[in-house]
Amino acid sequence: MKRNHYTPEQEQFREAFRRFLEREVVPHSPRFREQGMIDRDVYRKAGEGGFLCYWVEEAYGGLGLADFRYDQLMYEEVTRSHETGLWMGALNRNSPPYIAKYGTEAQKHLFLPKLVSGEMICAIAMTEPDAGSDIAGFKTHARPRGDGSWVLNGQKTYISYGLTADLFVVAAKTDPSNPRQLGLFLVEKGMPGFRPGRKLEKLGFLSQDTSELFFEDVELSPQHVIGDPARGFDYMRGGLAEERITTAAQSLPNAQEAIRLAVDFTTGRKAFGQRIADFQNTKFKLAELRADVDCAQAFLDHCVDLFNAGELDPATAAACKLKCTEVQARAVDESLQLHGSAGYMQEYPICRLYADARISRIFAGTSEVMKIVIAKDMLG
Ligand SMILES: Cc1cc2nc3c(=O)[nH]c(=O)nc-3n(C[C@H](O)[C@H](O)[C@H](O)COP(=O)(O)OP(=O)(O)OC[C@H]3O[C@@H](n4cnc5c(N)ncnc54)[C@H](O)[C@@H]3O)c2cc1C
Repeated sequence: MKRNHYTPEQEQFREAFRRFLEREVVPHSPRFREQGMIDRDVYRKAGEGGFLCYWVEEAYGGLGLADFRYDQLMYEEVTRSHETGLWMGALNRNSPPYIAKYGTEAQKHLFLPKLVSGEMICAIAMTEPDAGSDIAGFKTHARPRGDGSWVLNGQKTYISYGLTADLFVVAAKTDPSNPRQLGLFLVEKGMPGFRPGRKLEKLGFLSQDTSELFFEDVELSPQHVIGDPARGFDYMRGGLAEERITTAAQSLPNAQEAIRLAVDFTTGRKAFGQRIADFQNTKFKLAELRADVDCAQAFLDHCVDLFNAGELDPATAAACKLKCTEVQARAVDESLQLHGSAGYMQEYPICRLYADARISRIFAGTSEVMKIVIAKDMLG
């Protein structure tokens, strides 16, 4: 489908990012997967290239390009490179906006330039061993000491970049009598009482680290509180809408690429004297997938425009995530099927696309939670 979505400047940015991936990431991809994380140096080079938190205002070291399409095209290029460990959505969108939107001037001046340069990586820590979808079930808590400082205790899990990150936006309860009252706190690597746990072994995203985090009497000064410590829930509602459009925008290129791989494979392989692509089943499957992806793409591009205009509401973001990730799931599954057993082998890229895709319907809110958000908007 022809898209009139990107400007010529954005296409130039795409070229620069593609060259960066070809130079700094793709040649080392097998090693990154082996070690379970990308070399730290790559993030600094990404910062030098202007690819990290480019949306941050110039006063805080960014390029001031408040346009999500730059992120969107980077997700497309990351998928195209087949090395998904450089998770631009997590680096640019999942946690830094909390500092930019709700942080103090001092916090913005201290942290944002380092997130832009890649000197620091920031992660978001919400999920806990006993509570993921059910935010009210969080046990991690921060107790005020009366002088503006806080003491943080608890545990988080499944945290993307848990080992690579230097800075964490941590959600914690701030009122024991109110399960819905949360605050957001900044925790820095090396603070006494804070330690990352083990690197978790995952199905996909093999070159991107995911880990547990432990907080034991971590003392947080007033400079480590983001905004109002009673309003974390509200902040997260807005932040999650951004995380959901991000997940949608990461999912659809994966679906597009799966279809492209299926076309390549089925036109090159024969069975029963004809190309796999010549079976009517193959044609119908690919045609259905193409129609699904084109519809989802039009919806996604529209949601990106709404986001850029500050008009993307949480329910529409949830609908976009639900639709794009479901289309992705069908696309990788059908495309793998068309590869036969080759699709199950790591040496074929469809195998990794399939494994990476499975998390899209779970993180940033599961598909079931997306339906709850959408239904609440419809029915109250
Ligand atoms: C690779 C990876 C990266 C991640 N990165 C991060 C990160 O950076 N930061 C972070 O905080 N978290 C992260 N997560 C965690 C992820 O966001 C959560 O695991 C996810 O939100 C689901 O929570 P849960 O696992 O506790 O599932 P649960 O909430 O226990 O849900 C289990 C099942 O029950 C269903 N369910 C729950 N409630 C309802 C309901 N009311 N109605 C119907 N069905 C329901 C769910 O849809 C799901 O199918 C990551 C996870 C992975 C695997």
